[in-house]
Order: sequence, then C-alpha cells, then structure tokens
Amino acid sequence: MLIQRATLLDGTSTDIRVGARIDEVGDNLAVQHGEGLLDASGGTVLPGLPDHHVHVRSAAFALDSFSVGPPGVSTKAQLAQMLSNATPGPDGWIRAVGYHESVAGDLDRTALDALVPHIPVRVQHRSGALWILNSAALGRVGLAEHPDGRLRSADRGWSEALRRRETDLAELSRRITATGVTGVTDATPDLSADDMVTLMVAHRRGEFRPRLRFLAPGKKILQDDRLDLDALIDWISEHHSTGRPVAVHCVTAAQLVVTIAALRAAGGHPLDRIEHASVVPDDNLADLADLADRGLTVVTQPNFVAERGDHYLADIPAADHGELWRVASLLKAAVPVALSTDMPFGHGDPWTAMRAAVHRTTLSGAVLNANECVSARTALTMFLGWPDRPGQARTVAAGQPGDLCVLTEPPETALAELDAGMVAATIIGGELVYFAM
Ligand SMILES: [Zn+2]
Repeated sequence: MLIQRATLLDGTSTDIRVGARIDEVGDNLAVQHGEGLLDASGGTVLPGLPDHHVHVRSAAFALDSFSVGPPGVSTKAQLAQMLSNATPGPDGWIRAVGYHESVAGDLDRTALDALVPHIPVRVQHRSGALWILNSAALGRVGLAEHPDGRLRSADRGWSEALRRRETDLAELSRRITATGVTGVTDATPDLSADDMVTLMVAHRRGEFRPRLRFLAPGKKILQDDRLDLDALIDWISEHHSTGRPVAVHCVTAAQLVVTIAALRAAGGHPLDRIEHASVVPDDNLADLADLADRGLTVVTQPNFVAERGDHYLADIPAADHGELWRVASLLKAAVPVALSTDMPFGHGDPWTAMRAAVHRTTLSGAVLNANECVSARTALTMFLGWPDRPGQARTVAAGQPGDLCVLTEPPETALAELDAGMVAATIIGGELVYFAM
C-alpha cells in the first residue's frame, strides 16, 4: 500500500510504500497498479508501537470481568455492591479482577461466601498471582476442602482444574490495534505450551492481529521471602549457556539487588531484561549502567504512577518516593529503557503510559517523583523499540518491518497530546488492521 502525505517524527514530509517491509520512503512516489492508497494528510507516521510486557490471555479474560479494585472500587461496601449485583457469565461464573487488600483486607472464601453464597465467584488479585474463590467455586474445581480459598498461581494443579472459558481474543486484538500497537510480548511467566499454541493459532487465523512474542520460559518471578542468589545465578547461567536471554521481574529493592548480583556473577546476554524495576535505589543506578554495557534493558511501566500513585504516596515513606518507577535517572545513567503497559494489570493504552512518563500525575493530581519526568518525544521513542531489543528505537525507513501507526496529527500536536484518539490507522506487515472511520 502507498501512504501519501505522511510526516515523520523528525518533521520530514514524505510518501511511504509498505508491504511486509517498508519498501520505499520518498517524495511523490508513483502509484502502482492495484495498490491501496492511504492519505495521511500530513499526519505523523510512526513505526507500529510494540507493547513489550503484556499478559494476553489475562487481558482477553479481563475484558468482560468485573473490576473490583481502586479507583473504581475502594471500599468493602462498594465491593459488596459490585459482587452481589454481578450477573454471571455464560459459564455460570462471576469473574472479578484487580482486587487489592486496601478494599476489604485479605479476602478469603468465607468473606466471599457472605457476599455471594451460591454462584461460583473467582476474584483475581491485581498482582495477577493470587485468586480467591468462594465455596461454590471451590466445589466446582474439586477443592471443596480448601482451607481459605486463596490460590496462588505458583501452586499449579488447581489452575488446570479451573474451567477455562474461551476468551475473546478478537475483541482484545481490535482494542489493542486501535491504539497503534502492532506487536506484543507476552510476559506471563507460567504460560503453558497449550496457552502459547492457542495464542499462536489465533494469530495465524487472523483473530489476534498483533505480532506475538513470548518471554516464557526465560521469565523469572522473584519473591522477597524466597530470594536465593545461588539458585538465580544457576538459572541465569543455564539460560545463557544455551544462548537464551533472561527477563527477571523486580518489583522490590531486595529483588533488584539480588538480580543485579546474579547477573553480575552469571554474565550478560545482549538481550537480557529486567521487568518493572519498580524500585531502584540510587546506589543501584551505577550497577544497572554496568549491566547495560553488557546488553541489559529495563522494561518498565510508568503508567502505574498514574494508576496507583496515590496509594504509593499514602503507603510508602516519603523518603523512598524517589526510588519509584524511575525513568529519567535510568536514561541519564545510559541504561536502555523501554516502556510497556503490563496489560491487564496496568491500563493497556500505551499513550496513557507515555503521558504518565511525561507528567507523573496521580489520579488525585499529585506528582510522584517529578525528577523522573521525561519529554514527550523521549516517552514516545521508548515505545518504538524492536520486539527483541526493546530499548533500541525503530524508524520509518526502507527495509524496516511493514508495521506502522498513522496519526491524524502532525508531530508537534501528536507530542503535545500523546493520545490514542489520534490513531487513524494501524498497519501490520503492509496490511491495514485498524482504520478509524
Ligand atoms: Zn506483568
């Protein structure tokens, strides 16, 4: 297809011929026979956005689940109202996502039974690692005797027993591509081979359009009470010895410190990643810079500043706020940083994440850690990386993959707004997969 009157991010006006790859970028390209035409009318054309850290099945599942966490639901009374009025899905279950203990403490089966006694209810914690089931649900999955109904994703077995409902990947695909996203990296650590096959088949059938990449099995989740440096070194070395990179999930300072030590001891792989890096003490900036020299990239989600910032401000001592969801200081230390959304645990709109990186404004309007703000151009560029090298930005140039995002606005306005509403068209491999009417 030929895109006419495009403006590149650097202000250049041009035409773009795109197929599986970008074939040509230049002025007044001649229209070829049978070629589709798209008039960008001076709007910005970007490389298609990758989202480097998402959970596809959970996101499809969350589409029609009830959200029972802040800010929508923040009190026990609101939770009770939401669940007791919820209509079960076609399979007879009530599914809820996004729970946080600030709403009504550590939920268990008894608490859920009091709200919904007879219909099976399954509540997912917003971390994605814990489910709470009521007695009716436990009975359905053969765990009627379970002491409290709190099931962790790390304990397999039960999860196989849970009936999987077909999730609506096509609808998720439509929503994702409408934001200009052309590829996603699924970061689910315990993704089974079956799950991967399901997703790959949906992709091949055209039901799920964005390009798909999986971090598992090179993805490691750490738990503060089970940090084991030697085991982590062994795990990393084992992956590196067979040429595979690792992606280690670090959401606390302790996890980051152990991961840094383990990466140091095990040596680097040019595609290694640290996921989240939610807490980075000053002392560790130089360590991360050292590891970056050997290829490490940090894949982070500043959208949590916007979504959960008020909680951080209330729950975390002021002296530690400077360590939260850093971006500018990592870049300053020459650590490659890529942004992502962690959908559905974070809001899946990359433009929201970019705005959060620029403004770091919480829902109440406070600013968390203003020193870590970056420019709009930097925020956008951190969403333009390669699927396997997220910290390295792509450009619109001949030979690059034929994945593009066309905006209605020229660069200056696009950068000022950073809004998904500007996405006019999304192109994957030269095919128009989204077009705003
Ligand atoms: Zn995640």
